[in-house]
This record gives sequence, structure tokens and C-alpha cells, in this order.
Amino acid sequence: MGTIFTQIVEGEIPARIVYEDETTVAFLDANPLAPGHTLVIPKEEYERLNDVPDDVATELYATIHRLVPAVEEAVDADASTVAFNNGEEAGQEVPHVHCHIVPRFEGDGGGPIHGIAGEAPDIADDELDDIADEIESRS
Ligand code: AMP
Repeated sequence: MGTIFTQIVEGEIPARIVYEDETTVAFLDANPLAPGHTLVIPKEEYERLNDVPDDVATELYATIHRLVPAVEEAVDADASTVAFNNGEEAGQEVPHVHCHIVPRFEGDGGGPIHGIAGEAPDIADDELDDIADEIESRS
């Protein structure tokens, strides 16, 4: 059996679908962090962003780009936090890539994305240089 999101794509379980095209679909989160909290997914099941083929990634970003203003305007939000929990250790519970669009409001009590990883490490300059080189060599 597919993930719960594949079941939504297949129409096997209900969802409040707000956008759909050949490759992607967007629907309201069942446990919203804010009014209008929306998830954008590729219809095909990929567990992590790392698994998504280039062409699907392009389509996925196009849908996110389309939905962010739609969601913000629909609920009269001041801003939005747009994020993926990419892998179990990062808090991903549903193993089917999904982008959260969470509308944000002045004074909503939430924080920035900087708060997600616990205590910020103190990293020396040469270590930062090494890390940058490692990433660059794989990009
Ligand atoms: P994550 O922790 O990033 O994997 O987020 C999974 C999200 O999926 C959570 O915010 C859930 O509320 C949401 N969710 C789980 N099941 C459903 C469902 N059937 N319909 C809509 N959203 C769902």
C-alpha cells in the first residue's frame, strides 16, 4: 500500500485539494499549524528530496511558487514559512516528499526556521571552509 499521500492522490481517502496538475497536487494539512496550512507533493512517491528526479523537482517548485501567494492571499497572511522536513531525523513523518506552506501572521507566536536544529554549533573558520568545499564538490 502507498503512503497516506499516495492514497490522497489515488482518491482513496478524502482531502481538501486546492490545486492539481499532471505531476503535483496541493491540499490542506489535516492538522493545520495555521489557517491555510497547505502541503504540496509530487504525485509519484519519493521519500526524500534527494530522491526526486530533476524534471519532477522543477514541476514541484513551480507548484510551490504558484501556491505560496495563493495561500497567503486566501487567509490574508502577512508572510509564510515554506519548508520540507527532509528525512525522519528532521521530523519527516510521512515518507512522501511534501512541502509545508504555513501562513504566518504578525504576533502569531511562532519563530523563524533558525529555531529548528537546537543549539547552534560553534564552527571554526577552517572547518567551515572544508564543509563549503565538500558541498561544492558534490554540487
Ligand atoms: P511531516 O512531519 O513533515 O512528515 O508532516 C506530515 C504532515 O502531514 C503533518 O503536518 C500532518 O498533519 C499531515 N497529514 C497527515 N495525514 C494527512 C492527511 N490524511 N491529510 C492531510 N494532511 C495529513
